[in-house]
Amino acid sequence: LLQVRGLWKIFGEGGAETQVLKGLDLTMARGEMSALLGPSGSGKSTLLTILGTLMQPTSGSHVMLGEDLTTASDKDLTDFRNLHIGFVFQFHNLLPDFTALENVIFPTAVRDGRETAAARDRGRELLVRMGLADRIDYPSTSLSGGQKQRVAVARALMNRPEFVLADEPTGNLDRASANQVMELIGEINRAEGTTFLISTHDEKIAARCQRQILVGDGQVTG
Ligand code: ATP
Ligand code: MG
Repeated sequence: LLQVRGLWKIFGEGGAETQVLKGLDLTMARGEMSALLGPSGSGKSTLLTILGTLMQPTSGSHVMLGEDLTTASDKDLTDFRNLHIGFVFQFHNLLPDFTALENVIFPTAVRDGRETAAARDRGRELLVRMGLADRIDYPSTSLSGGQKQRVAVARALMNRPEFVLADEPTGNLDRASANQVMELIGEINRAEGTTFLISTHDEKIAARCQRQILVGDGQVTG
């Protein structure tokens, strides 16, 4: 699914430059559910942002689903991202004036230029799978932190991405909610074969993944 070779990311320039990724190599197979671990500032979010095609690396090669993204145009990157990649962030960024269901189908409605019945069905199905059957039409502001994060996971899955990048998705949840989110991600991984890369500081969360990828000094160290 993913082959990254010699990835460099340098922020700033001249005397003020920060080398964050220093020739990082990473390969991921389709259907993998992996944790991304490393100290604060080690470059986990930077790596996820680059893998999600939201930021260009300074150099190196980035191939996903056989497509060389290193040399792709901005338009091709946007199309690729919309088609193949889902994102979950620590702060779910739900739209406050929208219900759970409206939040989940929002990106798809924007893409299609309207809300289709098929999108509503998929959105409902995902919310049911996330254990939120009784919260589908509640405003997002009335949901608990764990419930909001499950809505965010459903939203990321809406367009059936092959690859979901999650940056500390359980970072602001208590243990029980965090476990529930991970349980549901695991179920989707098994049922739909979706590949997940999940950054976390939490060893227990990482242990729930099939593989642990450790980042340090700009490289994968384990
Ligand atoms: P955390 O665990 O705290 O979330 P992280 O591993 O996700 O950390 P990053 O956010 O990727 O780390 O940051 C890695 C380094 O890159 C940090 O030193 C950070 O200050 C720097 N950095 C990140 N983004 C930028 C930017 N846009 N401009 C300059 N420096 C940046
Ligand atoms: Mg981070």
